[in-house]
Amino acid sequence: MNNKSIIENVMHFLVHNSILFTVEVMCLVHVTLLGLTWYAGIMPMVLYNVFSVTIYLFCIMLCHFGHVTPVFYTIIIEVSIYSAVSLYYIGWDYGTYCFLFSIVPIELYFGTFLFSGKKRMIVFASLVIIFGMYLVLYFVHFHIEPAFDMPKIPGVILMIFSSFVMFFAMIFYSMVYIYASEHERTNLVQENEQLASDANNDALTGLLNRRGFLPIVSSLMTGDPLNHFCIAFCDIDNFKRINDSYGHDCGDEVLRHVSKLIKREMHGCSICRWGGEEMVILMRDYDMAVAKQKMEYVRRLIETSPTAFYNKRIMATVTIGLEESGDAYKVPDEIIKVADERMYYGKQHGKNILIAEAV
Ligand code: GH3
Ligand code: MG
Ligand code: MG
Repeated sequence: MNNKSIIENVMHFLVHNSILFTVEVMCLVHVTLLGLTWYAGIMPMVLYNVFSVTIYLFCIMLCHFGHVTPVFYTIIIEVSIYSAVSLYYIGWDYGTYCFLFSIVPIELYFGTFLFSGKKRMIVFASLVIIFGMYLVLYFVHFHIEPAFDMPKIPGVILMIFSSFVMFFAMIFYSMVYIYASEHERTNLVQENEQLASDANNDALTGLLNRRGFLPIVSSLMTGDPLNHFCIAFCDIDNFKRINDSYGHDCGDEVLRHVSKLIKREMHGCSICRWGGEEMVILMRDYDMAVAKQKMEYVRRLIETSPTAFYNKRIMATVTIGLEESGDAYKVPDEIIKVADERMYYGKQHGKNILIAEAV
């Protein structure tokens, strides 16, 4: 697995598990804070962190059961209380407010996932609450003395940790957004390509349909006057009998098989499923002699390559009419019609034959 696909797989996993991942990280953050406040000897904060860890363990459970809305509200309430509690016990200097900002992208992400239409106002309201809380804490901190003196080392670690959590939340959710939108775009491009291909191709055989085929012939006829090509009109002989004898599924399988043989042999040519069991082949830069040789080879190949259908071998043959481009033909239908008439002449003269001359 290369680096790109490792990153892609990790991102794919994170995007699809982002809510659970967030709650797990929140839980882990509080485990770390619990350790830090224990180290600093601030027991009320240790207790609060025990409470937060319990809350997030419960939230993890809720996520597992698909109840994300209560988790959305729990995060705002828990972080707001945490900010207030920590302001009361240790003051403003250790990044109390960072946690408020770190939940901004989380609330945005959860909120837009959970709510749509007018309910999105809830997301907006949650952001207002977060910023309001920040302002309140900021003004309150001038008027209160922290209950504890934070020792220097855990104080520095706490400040760095709080800033890191805020930074991590911003980066993580930006990456999730970028990845999700890129992923969406790639999917859209692929779907568009698939739709375009579905519109121009026949579903059963994978050959072009008329809509995909005719513009190719047309562009050859209206382009460089030196363009030369041949058109072969192929029709499977007695196909109705195959359907009647072995069933429609077998007929489909014969169609697929014959198409595959033609596709394999006529590499580089445009091949169209013209109608039920009729195929038209555009042979670019073929002169009549070479086209005749090639189509005679294809006719014999089909004749000698039975279709395997369960334990049966179904024989099929084709009758082919061939015509080359020339001044007489201005639009695709004219030349295809002549090839069709030759094929029809072949049908009346024994089938399983190639007709390349005027009839
Ligand atoms: P001919 O040798 O004169 O061409 O006889 P034919 O039986 O091949 O031709 P005919 O036009 O009488 O019958 C064509 C049959 O092809 C009739 C139709 O039900 C069948 N058919 C058309 N499209 C499909 C398809 O997609 N799958 C299957 N299994 N049969 C199809
Ligand atoms: Mg037919
Ligand atoms: Mg037929």
